[in-house]
Amino acid sequence: MSRSQCERLFEEAQSLIPGGVNSPVRAFKSVGQTPIFAARGEGAYIWDADGKKYTDYIGSWGPLILGHAYAPVVDAVCEAAHEGTSFGLPTAMEVEMARLITELVKGVEMVRMVSSGTEAVLSAIRAARGFTGREMVVKFEGCYHGHSDSMLVKAGSGLATAGQPDSAGVPANTAAATLTCRYNDLEEIKKIFAAHKDEIAAVIVEPVGANMGVVPPAPGFLEGLREITAANGALLIFDEVITGFRLSINCASGYFGVTPDLWTFGKIIGGGLPVGAYGGRRDVMSMVAPLGPVYQAGTLSGNPVAMAAGFAALTALRENPLIYRELAARGERLRAGLDKIFKKYGVAACVQGIESLATIFFTAGPVKSYDEAKKSDTARYARFWSGMAARGILMAPSQFEALFLCAAHSDEDIEYFLVCADEVAGSEGF
Ligand SMILES: *Cc1c(COP(=O)(O)O)cnc(C)c1O
Repeated sequence: MSRSQCERLFEEAQSLIPGGVNSPVRAFKSVGQTPIFAARGEGAYIWDADGKKYTDYIGSWGPLILGHAYAPVVDAVCEAAHEGTSFGLPTAMEVEMARLITELVKGVEMVRMVSSGTEAVLSAIRAARGFTGREMVVKFEGCYHGHSDSMLVKAGSGLATAGQPDSAGVPANTAAATLTCRYNDLEEIKKIFAAHKDEIAAVIVEPVGANMGVVPPAPGFLEGLREITAANGALLIFDEVITGFRLSINCASGYFGVTPDLWTFGKIIGGGLPVGAYGGRRDVMSMVAPLGPVYQAGTLSGNPVAMAAGFAALTALRENPLIYRELAARGERLRAGLDKIFKKYGVAACVQGIESLATIFFTAGPVKSYDEAKKSDTARYARFWSGMAARGILMAPSQFEALFLCAAHSDEDIEYFLVCADEVAGSEGF
């Protein structure tokens, strides 16, 4: 049998790029497949290098809430590029972008643009450390905050034990300054604060866990974090790289009515181009250079083409509030439909999500934390993934990720997803 173009490309890529990909999850290892090389996207659909069409539920892992090649974003990019792609000087668009973000997100008084979510997080943590004069940071098990050294730490099993690095190459000393806590567990975070009084600079959290599959916050969890950080002189950081401008135009903080001290943004804020941002309280952000002593810089920060894309995306979302209502309704329909299907076939599955995010955990659930997410049957997820892909539905090639809906998904797309899911769930050997 002749090999496909995707297979040929992957073979060549593997000799040139580590693992053949520029970000590990794209290797499709956890579903036992080789990568789909994308050639083109339009709205809710993509075409691979062999011309096969898929309805896309990866959405570039979050940024594409408006769908692929959304015309106002593409136009803004082209227009900006014609004027010059980079200056290394401030531009008017950066001021407009900062104005827009501070208007949309209550509590963000100042904001600094960077080029990725990773950069946003490491910079926010540096600012928090600079502001508090403390070194320790608490993160939650199963939350992803980019690949900076101090965030590549998962839970040590013992309570409040120093973190163990998740990756080779992370200095033990760096990892030791990161404490980990169970998601949705306020009792544990209280114990961590009791054990490390006056040492914790910040608690960073995904206000909706979306990198262990989708795990919404339990009622009171975010409020509890707000209280305990404030009471202990630590900053609360919402990592809104996924939730920002996805849960609502006012982000997760507006959605839940909980105001952190700092926010990190990425993904949607760049409209599909490489953008991140961090911002928050004026007194904390005033620590950042050249105003204050916390150094942070970037040759391509606030890049005019990237700013134009992000600004066009955020403006489209702001001007069309109906988008969020429709996304929420389709998300609900997808989750309810899947739930019914798995019940019908007696499959141990738990469909979770919020607004335009969903995950099918192949475990009875409910999943409130990473240890519960890890009980999922990943082999069954791989079978489900393959069955759906064969029918032209592209989901994240890993159990512990979200399904991302975009404004371009139609009711018919959702209906087709459910028809396919019913076929796969009801098939022999599933
Ligand atoms: C994707 C993600 C990041 C990292 O962003 P990059 O742009 O990939 O560096 C950080 N935090 C969260 C919550 C994310 O989902």
